[in-house]
Amino acid sequence: MERFRMELESRSKNEEFARVVVAVFISRLDPTLEELNDVKTAVSEAVTNAEIHGYQGAEGIIQVEVEIEGRELTVKIRDKGIGISNVEEARQPMFTTDKSGERSGMGFSFMEAFMDQVTVESSPGQGTLVVMKKKIGR
Ligand code: ATP
Ligand code: MG
Repeated sequence: MERFRMELESRSKNEEFARVVVAVFISRLDPTLEELNDVKTAVSEAVTNAEIHGYQGAEGIIQVEVEIEGRELTVKIRDKGIGISNVEEARQPMFTTDKSGERSGMGFSFMEAFMDQVTVESSPGQGTLVVMKKKIGR
């Protein structure tokens, strides 16, 4: 088993950094371009959620953990932000708490579409943990 862990500041260009680092880490599994893009998109959605919803644009630490066991990839994205009161509702396609009209409420749907398995643990005031799994290659 190989594991990589990092902590990011929630501000600035760190979403892009997380995406690229995860892509480099999993390149040892010899993923297809499609698999690589799927994982990058899922990571991007989860980290963006931690920044804009979890920490509401303020400072905070986002933990990113990547684990490879055989061909199974596990990515964990954790924040200690505001948390989610109703996870089931938040995961519905097109559900968003965003008032600006910029968000479409499709982040969790993309994560589910691009990864094999997505679990979300969250409670108000405690932050959020998103765990995503995907089998890479054959
Ligand atoms: P989009 O991802 O399409 O830009 P969105 O972020 O609102 O829009 P989702 O990513 O599906 O849509 O998230 C749905 C809702 O779940 C969010 O609007 C927010 O209320 C809540 N949410 C998601 N992630 C977090 C988080 N890390 N902390 C707190 N709330 C979250
Ligand atoms: Mg989102």
